[in-house]
Amino acid sequence: MNVMDSHFFEGAFVEAGLSAAVGAQDADLIILNTCSVREHAENKVLSRLGVLTRLKEVNTSLKIVVAGCMAQRMGGEITRKFPAVDLVLGTGRIADIVALTTAKGGAGCMVCTDGMGDAGPERYPYARAGAAHAYVCAMRGCDNFCAYCIVPKVRGRQVSRPAAKIIAEIEALCADGVKVVTLLGQNISAWGRDLGEGRGLAFLLEAVHEVAGLEWIKFLTCHPRDTDTAVFEAMRDLPKVASGIHLPAQAGSDFVLRAMKRGYTRREYLSKVAQLRDFVPQASIVGDFIVGFPGEREADFNDTLSLLEETGFRGSFVFKYSPRPGTAAAHLADDVPMDVKARRNNDLLALQRDVSLAQNRSFIGRRVRVFVEGPSRKNPDELTGRTLGDEVVIFAGSRREAGSFAQVDIFDASAAVLFGREVP
Ligand code: SF4
Repeated sequence: MNVMDSHFFEGAFVEAGLSAAVGAQDADLIILNTCSVREHAENKVLSRLGVLTRLKEVNTSLKIVVAGCMAQRMGGEITRKFPAVDLVLGTGRIADIVALTTAKGGAGCMVCTDGMGDAGPERYPYARAGAAHAYVCAMRGCDNFCAYCIVPKVRGRQVSRPAAKIIAEIEALCADGVKVVTLLGQNISAWGRDLGEGRGLAFLLEAVHEVAGLEWIKFLTCHPRDTDTAVFEAMRDLPKVASGIHLPAQAGSDFVLRAMKRGYTRREYLSKVAQLRDFVPQASIVGDFIVGFPGEREADFNDTLSLLEETGFRGSFVFKYSPRPGTAAAHLADDVPMDVKARRNNDLLALQRDVSLAQNRSFIGRRVRVFVEGPSRKNPDELTGRTLGDEVVIFAGSRREAGSFAQVDIFDASAAVLFGREVP
């Protein structure tokens, strides 16, 4: 969501006649688009603001903006700590960035954190530099209240964009060369609920599937309880729709899941996965886990290990719990010592590596269609791309522009990537 908002910022400024600076030294305006989900992310922003404050002492006309979730959460606390900041732009005011930063009289320590809960900009200008992939906002905010999560506080209640607006945006993107879209929502599996039209994510996927020129549709993120079988049917029946799903489990023990207020049990999570595999046997599932949630015992953590193994996640994002002010869990004692959190984090990642390797090795000998993203980061003579299930593929082949498709024969795999040869 933040990447998409950053694309919006860039597009909006390009439309207003500005252009991207080469680096911080050359910039007239610097925006830190922030995340609040973990304390670690916020600490990085605070330390970056220290650096930018020194930069502003040299370049006094520089404007500094802090945007996004941390801006929403901390508001004026940011300008009190860092008077060099010109504008604190909350999540509901994203659309106003150009007006607020270019208005005569300047920003001068403005804090704009009202307006939370709207659906974001009406129109999404993009500075995509010809990229064939685009993020598209399907909804913002979330109506769930997971005990650890700051999102409903900083992004507000769920607001879905009407299907017609999403379709119109995707049609415009495709007319401009986009071939792959990723539909975004903090809990996209609940898309449409607030629109009161009795239509859900499966309807949206079907409607987007009709857009001419569009080749692939990906979507993030799904809450296991809110993801219904109609979505799995869409994944099975609509060839453009991703065969991969991000279905965060967060924990494998009923005790911890209850404390997290996730709204499902371990058995219910596993039965959702079994349903998905009935519809899409090759479905590639990515998870999220939080280790060291208050009260998590060794037995609970072992349940998380076994859930990871039973589900057979292709990959997982693993986080050490940190309390977020304003959440229900912030009132609980953060009683798992940091060294235990770190060990559980490492153990879970090590198991995930083994599971990922086994998953990826099952691709050896198969031919996959790959969306080419560009030269590989490690070796510019190789290309990197992704499958419809979001597996990363590295392959040698004819140099192509980013944004084309290739057929690739997979001959090897690591835990992180598949290695292949392009089919001539
Ligand atoms: S469903 Fe996701 S975004 Fe919503 S409260 Fe839970 S963790 Fe946060």
